[in-house]
Amino acid sequence: MRQVSDGGQLRSPQPDGLLLPRSSLLLTVEEVRQLWAFVHGDIMDGGIRTLLRASLGLCPRHTWAYAVVEIELWQTGGGLRGGHQPFDVTVLYEDLLEHVAAGLTRPATPFRRHPESILVPSGPCRVCTELVPSGHAGMRLGYAASNSSALADEANLLTWTRRWCIDTAPIWRPMVCPRCQEAPQKKGREVDAAGLLCRPHLLSLGRLSPTLREEVAARLRELQGRMRRLTASMTKYGAPATPQDDASWVETLGFFAGWGPPLHLADITAHADERTT
Ligand SMILES: [Zn+2]
Ligand SMILES: [Zn+2]
Repeated sequence: MRQVSDGGQLRSPQPDGLLLPRSSLLLTVEEVRQLWAFVHGDIMDGGIRTLLRASLGLCPRHTWAYAVVEIELWQTGGGLRGGHQPFDVTVLYEDLLEHVAAGLTRPATPFRRHPESILVPSGPCRVCTELVPSGHAGMRLGYAASNSSALADEANLLTWTRRWCIDTAPIWRPMVCPRCQEAPQKKGREVDAAGLLCRPHLLSLGRLSPTLREEVAARLRELQGRMRRLTASMTKYGAPATPQDDASWVETLGFFAGWGPPLHLADITAHADERTT
């Protein structure tokens, strides 16, 4: 996805076609095969990291799918939980939070007139480009000869991801993008909390004021601090994560990829909100 410069204005694609609906994720065997290999790949490698910065990680579907595959399938790890935690995800997205925050607060120059263009991926989703079409003949071996079909069945249960989303909902709920949160019939109304918009919905605003860019960057840097502590908590030496740290990966993926999956998994709907307010 690339931005289109239109007479000096930033014209962005409508986000609704890019975002996942507020529903469960049902991953294909091929997606799980690719993501299980991706989780085992070296995202710290300089070349891969540069590509992942350009693409701002993965597309919305595969951003959430990446977390699901790691959380559901990775059964061992450091820290108190020992497994079923988004370690690889937080390592990558901590870096992307800094990348986007720095871009938003960088002054405009004649060569880079629109700092908000940092919100637009300039490269394709790595997983989308590597998916083998379903009609393709031949062997499709899983990572280390794993059984991709069995892994997909396990991942699609969403047992651990659902638990994470429900447990952390009290923290992330006030931070949900107002456009992702609102019922479809309300779309198009004024956004009164633009600083909370997710990346795709920020793009739908076009040009962003310096004040709004600063506000969003400050939110991303605050998130980055919590995510750094969460990453450390999943290692041998890190302190235990606080509930705020635990929620940071949901908030971060919500920013990059929209909030459909966690809103669904935590069973928070616009109607439920109306009943409780
Ligand atoms: Zn993708
Ligand atoms: Zn949104």
